[in-house]
Amino acid sequence: MIDNFEELGLNPELVSAVTELGFEKPTPVQETVIPKQLDEDGDIVCLAQTGTGKTAAFGLPLIQTMNQDSLDTQVLILCPTRELCRQISDDLNSYAKYSKGFKLVAVYGGSNIEQQIRSLRKGANVIVATPGRMVDLIERKVADLSLVNRLILDEADEMLNMGFKEELDAIVSHCPENRRTLLFSATLPSEVEGIAKKYMYRPEIITIGKRNQGAENVKHYFYLVEAKNRYLALKRIVDFNPHIYGIVFCRTRQETQEIADSLIRDGYNAEALHGELSQTQRDWVMSRFRNKTLSLLVATDVAARGIDVSDLTHVINYNLPDEPEQYTHRSGRTGRADKTGISIAIINTREKSKIKRIEKILGKTFAQAKVPTGKEVCSKQLFNLIDQIENTEVKEEINEYMSVVESKWSYLSKEDIIRRVLSIEFNRFLEYYKHAPDLNVPEGPVKSEEKVQKAKDPEKGYTWIRLNTGTRRGITPRQIIRLMTACGLGKKGIGRIELYNDFTLIEVSSRAANTIAEQLNGSSYRGKRLVAQVG
Ligand code: AMP
Repeated sequence: MIDNFEELGLNPELVSAVTELGFEKPTPVQETVIPKQLDEDGDIVCLAQTGTGKTAAFGLPLIQTMNQDSLDTQVLILCPTRELCRQISDDLNSYAKYSKGFKLVAVYGGSNIEQQIRSLRKGANVIVATPGRMVDLIERKVADLSLVNRLILDEADEMLNMGFKEELDAIVSHCPENRRTLLFSATLPSEVEGIAKKYMYRPEIITIGKRNQGAENVKHYFYLVEAKNRYLALKRIVDFNPHIYGIVFCRTRQETQEIADSLIRDGYNAEALHGELSQTQRDWVMSRFRNKTLSLLVATDVAARGIDVSDLTHVINYNLPDEPEQYTHRSGRTGRADKTGISIAIINTREKSKIKRIEKILGKTFAQAKVPTGKEVCSKQLFNLIDQIENTEVKEEINEYMSVVESKWSYLSKEDIIRRVLSIEFNRFLEYYKHAPDLNVPEGPVKSEEKVQKAKDPEKGYTWIRLNTGTRRGITPRQIIRLMTACGLGKKGIGRIELYNDFTLIEVSSRAANTIAEQLNGSSYRGKRLVAQVG
């Protein structure tokens, strides 16, 4: 067991930088990967999840071993999404705070390419990229990979899920053969094994623990309500947990915005985070969430991917994800670092079978929780208020006002004063919950899940997405392909396309289907607000 970063062989500049970030000792993935990357040759396949500290595991040794006197591109890091690209680049820049010649450029889709070209032309000894954008830049002859000696493939399974196989082949073919390759993946499906065989030389395979150890500390609950009461149930759950610090997951951008707007309107400390916001808006929301000025972040799965907040009290599934596996990612955001966490799903009766499927994947069972009654919420809030009063710091300065206050309140008894002080806050809840109905659905036979009629069975590994626009608006297959690639899907990720008058069926890689639908939903194309349905 290594207790500090010096023992791993890192130089003092890097040790200072990580110490300033509050890293006290290396995580298991860092303990294993850093010495190998510093002292040994050879390729590594590392099975580790987000949240394990893998960015520092590959980042610190590459900063130490690269030639910082040269602006030739020596390191290429590929990852699946824009969010991850930005997160890796922020992390590496903070690790390289005292490394003067470190020059990183991040290039990713959905952002101005001209600006990225200008940055690359100024020189970058490290490039962090999403595959589609990287291919584009190679084709435009802006990026030269002929001197790359380290290739990092981060979240390789996700890159393949997004259909980036062809792009990866193209990029790797531009890197020298004698490079070192380090591949990170949460899982090892045959596709990942395939690229490891193809791009790597006798890689050592390292497995680092489970997703995040904290997942063991997460308790899972579902609340059964009628679909129309979902929002009311959310409010009750939040009101019943006055110290909540959590993420509310929604399925689409539109839903995310609507729920956040409603929460804000109803006086909650919430904000939305989704792909339609500008980078500045997202950064602003995230910094407020990180410093806990915000207590609820309402987010889509895609937008939440890059979030590295570790001490959430709750994860709330306002709507369950379409892919049951996604639930694990969501709930894994709480219960980290030895803390306990609560993952909540608000469901209607039809969704009970989804819970069963998730339980199988999780290997854990959900407990059914009752939506608190109005009275329960009020008493919880009252006791919270009492605690707050008890724990309030009393400053000396108040003493000079005490005699005035005492004479002003001389006609009130102590009990009267307590009642009035508590009522300032309590009345709000009392008023709201005065006639609050019971939101729990009485237990009864579970109806079978609604059957979705589909045109044809999709090819294996693909899922249909139905888009609410078609030939009547002059849509062509080529436009659909462009639309899909703009959402970050590689060519392999797109299957058959069937155009109809008012809608289009598109086969997309199953693993990417939700991400794509999420990005399409609420966006506009040729004057039409898009609605994408999966399956
Ligand atoms: P990653 O798996 O690279 O996404 O890292 C997850 C989070 O853990 C990030 O917020 C890092 O800043 C943080 N982290 C990485 N290494 C350490 C460490 N040794 N000690 C404490 N936090 C760390």
